[in-house]
Amino acid sequence: MSNIAERWQNIREKVDTVTKEAGRSPDSVMVLAVSKTFPAADVRAAWAAGAREFGENYVQEGVEKLNELADLPAIWHFIGPLQSNKTRPVAEHFHWVHTVDREKIAQRLNDQRPAHLPPLQVCLQVNISADPAKAGVSITELANLAHRVTQLPNLTLRGLMTVPALDLSETELGAQFAQMQQAFLTLQAAYPSVDTLSMGMSDDMTLAIRHGSTCVRIGRGLFGHRERKGNSNDH
Ligand SMILES: *Cc1c(COP(=O)(O)O)cnc(C)c1O
Repeated sequence: MSNIAERWQNIREKVDTVTKEAGRSPDSVMVLAVSKTFPAADVRAAWAAGAREFGENYVQEGVEKLNELADLPAIWHFIGPLQSNKTRPVAEHFHWVHTVDREKIAQRLNDQRPAHLPPLQVCLQVNISADPAKAGVSITELANLAHRVTQLPNLTLRGLMTVPALDLSETELGAQFAQMQQAFLTLQAAYPSVDTLSMGMSDDMTLAIRHGSTCVRIGRGLFGHRERKGNSNDH
């Protein structure tokens, strides 16, 4: 068995165990395989092991990779920072975007989504740590942005995503995850399409799942060491 296959099974088992311990149904948490900087061959190995949903951070790299892997019916999630001049390839190629944090980006994705494709599935990125260095809508602006997104016919609002600050204590992190869970439940009560809370990475996935995460994003824990240095959303 390849290293990637072995790690995939370990991650999936760990997620299932934590999910069960949290009293949640076993299939309620998706593992998003974050393949940024890793080659298409690694994505194939993860696919063969059972991964079905993949996350990319960089527009050009992501589009090249998903074109190369067009024979796989994988689901592609854009999880990187999104500038307005880069929205078109994302709208044209990805199934999901986790990082919508302002109306202008949402409007452009809506306008650029090709008519022959289903709506783009959207999570709003929340800057839960109120970290000036991080992207994301503030908790106070969230309801307004969510309302705007639900008015756009080529987008479907699926939920929320967050990347907390790095320097938090376990207690602070738990408090922020709890805030995210509350915001998610409020949003879900208002909009029936909302079912996704994209929260938690390798080091904090247990805490995130206890606070209702439905999607943990795992990169290096699955694919191994990453050579290239990433950006501000990259840990
Ligand atoms: C890179 C990245 C991940 C995965 O991080 P790893 O350290 O590789 O596990 C998860 N979420 C986001 C938003 C990322 O940019």
